[in-house]
Amino acid sequence: MKKISIIIPVFNEASGLQKLRAALCPLIDNSLTDTPYGWEVIFINDGSRDTSLSIMQEIHAADPRFCYIDLSRNFGKENAMLAGLDHACGDAVVIMDADLQHPVRVIPQMIRQWEDGFQDVYGRRYERAGESFARKTLTRLYYYILQRSARIDILPDVGDFRLLDRACVNALRQLRETQRYSKGLFSWIGFSKKEVPFEVDERAAGRSSFSYAALFNLAIEGVTSFTTAPLRIASVVGILTAVCAIIYLLYILVRTMLYGDPVAGYPTIMCVMLFLGGCQLIALGIIGEYISRIFNECKRRPAYIINTVNGHAGDNHSML
Ligand code: UDP
Ligand code: MG
Repeated sequence: MKKISIIIPVFNEASGLQKLRAALCPLIDNSLTDTPYGWEVIFINDGSRDTSLSIMQEIHAADPRFCYIDLSRNFGKENAMLAGLDHACGDAVVIMDADLQHPVRVIPQMIRQWEDGFQDVYGRRYERAGESFARKTLTRLYYYILQRSARIDILPDVGDFRLLDRACVNALRQLRETQRYSKGLFSWIGFSKKEVPFEVDERAAGRSSFSYAALFNLAIEGVTSFTTAPLRIASVVGILTAVCAIIYLLYILVRTMLYGDPVAGYPTIMCVMLFLGGCQLIALGIIGEYISRIFNECKRRPAYIINTVNGHAGDNHSML
């Protein structure tokens, strides 16, 4: 019998966990799939500050198919997912959110595609329920730019809800960067992919932990971890400005020689200085983003630290 692991990062989801367990039960009792599978559900407690952990303990005590990994603090969803991937032992691994926005009813469809030979079956939202127009437009624009500059396909409306074959999981586990941008990593590893459309449900309980600021950071993360295009743009802008500066310099030289040098031009000087100063600061900022990535990655810290696994002191698999 094939085994399927479901990994679920959890951050302050106490109010929804029991509902999630109830929703998963028919699936792991094999009443939703044609063939029976062995199941394992792994909650990763990503440093929740509410009672999520004790609820996980309760669920585990009642039904040992539900396991939990308690991280030592909040490491972020991306790293929590990696902890799950490191510990999952199924032939396939399903990643889903704890808030029931990723409907359980889609998982059997994913499994069918997996059985048909696809190795990375991802859910694609076709309804962004409850999102503002501004957020939707910004998202579209961002993906357009990212697609254009990175050489891999990073799809909009595709999140972390997916089923991965063991081969994909093993590949992902080799990518040990600590500032992870999973959306990009899933594309980077390749393998045969298949889309399953699904409608995003409303959050079952609690509220989204991703603010605009967090999304902005994730966006920068995406760009800086998959493309060096901003550096190239900075160079091109630099060259263009230098060419313009030379033309302007020649113009001023000639004009001074022909008409003398009346002391004027304060506005011009201010404009040029401020504009160039701005360009330089932007370019420095871009370089800084990449240096900060180098700084963070070269420390080679593990992506997460485990406190306990199912209540037992954790052996740290994180430095594989
Ligand atoms: N999450 C996490 N660590 C964090 C933030 C979120 O493990 O630091 C989990 C959260 O519990 C949920 C999933 O990631 O299972 C998605 O989070 P959320 O629903 O807040 O994001 P959204 O659906 O708004 O993108
Ligand atoms: Mg959510």
